[in-house]
Amino acid sequence: MEENLAFPTKNIILKYNSLNSFWYRLKDIKEYPKSLKPGDFVKIFGKNGKFLALGYMNPDSQISLRILSTQEIKITKNFIKNKVIEADRKIEKLKKITDSYRLIHSEGDFFPGLIIDRFKNVFVIQFNTAGVENLRPFIISSIIELFNPYAIIEQSDEKMRELEGLPDTNGIIYGQEIEEIKIKEFNAKYLINFRKSQKTGFYLDQRENRKILSELAKDKNVLDLFCYTGGFGINCLLNNAKFVKFVEISKEVVSILEKNLKINNINENFEITNANVFKFFENEDKKYDLIIVDPPSFAKTKNEKKGAIKGYKYLLSKSLKILNKNGFIAIFSCSYHIELNDLINLTNEVCFANNTILEIKKFLFQDFTDHPYLPQIPQTLYLKGILLKFS
Ligand code: SAH
Repeated sequence: MEENLAFPTKNIILKYNSLNSFWYRLKDIKEYPKSLKPGDFVKIFGKNGKFLALGYMNPDSQISLRILSTQEIKITKNFIKNKVIEADRKIEKLKKITDSYRLIHSEGDFFPGLIIDRFKNVFVIQFNTAGVENLRPFIISSIIELFNPYAIIEQSDEKMRELEGLPDTNGIIYGQEIEEIKIKEFNAKYLINFRKSQKTGFYLDQRENRKILSELAKDKNVLDLFCYTGGFGINCLLNNAKFVKFVEISKEVVSILEKNLKINNINENFEITNANVFKFFENEDKKYDLIIVDPPSFAKTKNEKKGAIKGYKYLLSKSLKILNKNGFIAIFSCSYHIELNDLINLTNEVCFANNTILEIKKFLFQDFTDHPYLPQIPQTLYLKGILLKFS
């Protein structure tokens, strides 16, 4: 592939004089060529004629314009490769504590539509927009040249691709067939199963919170609700928790959790309940010192927000009933629509309803090192949590 072969760009004009967002709808665009095809690259000018940014457009998608750079440069393979090098440099400090991290986090790394997770030497990629689809060969060859990967696996978001008018293309796209890999994070080991796993394999975004919460777990009884493959609970056990109960609905995930406990030489002081958390509470009478509530996204759209808040209130009130005095509850939301303030407000309501006082000890977020939060793109802050103390 030629290093300096540049993608052609078309000129478009925004309805504004300056950038006020990193993505736009069709109604924000004053003029664009009729010949423009989904995923075409564009030079964006303000209505006063000033150059504003470089991006790509898909007139058929709800988000029609996404920004790739605010500099007037050419979209070449080097442009892509440099973005990857730059992203890898940003996460350098993580390499001391883990062999796995998010290399490219879409808008957070100024690369909308692209997500690359690195699990040791296996790269899991999501090509979620038509613009990024056009860059596919450049992205793949950059990864190959920079990291000499064992395998590259595509695990794109099928729904997003459908909205962009793209076919489903998931599977191994380079290297060897691989089903499972063992990764390391802090002192813990985890198996990533590329067939059975959710997301791209592991919730890398909870890394820092796993450390924060495991530090509270020494000699404590811990309840890890919505535990997935054991990220929180395993860290707690390695930090000498007295006991951990894991609760997870998916049988397949539980089979990976069982293996994860084994490879960490954990043979006792835990119990696994393969159940729906909402049912689990009905029969639970054991009490805990640390309860971790990390549910899947309850509000994928704004319309689901009310129901999600009701769900959170239920989970928090039920958790309170089985929490020891001086105990902690960590409650998380991974959906953009449930904000930190929503978590605070619903905690307030639950406290009044139960005649209880909880203190907020910490705010918890996605690990910003490899999941950057740009204030210009509010959606890049998606994982929020609060650590509560019952005193
Ligand atoms: N805390 C985990 C990530 C949790 S993801 C970590 O750090 O790795 C949410 C998990 O909740 C998923 O594994 C999903 O299968 C599980 N889940 C979804 N609904 C559930 C329910 N009603 N009861 C129990 N588990 C559920």
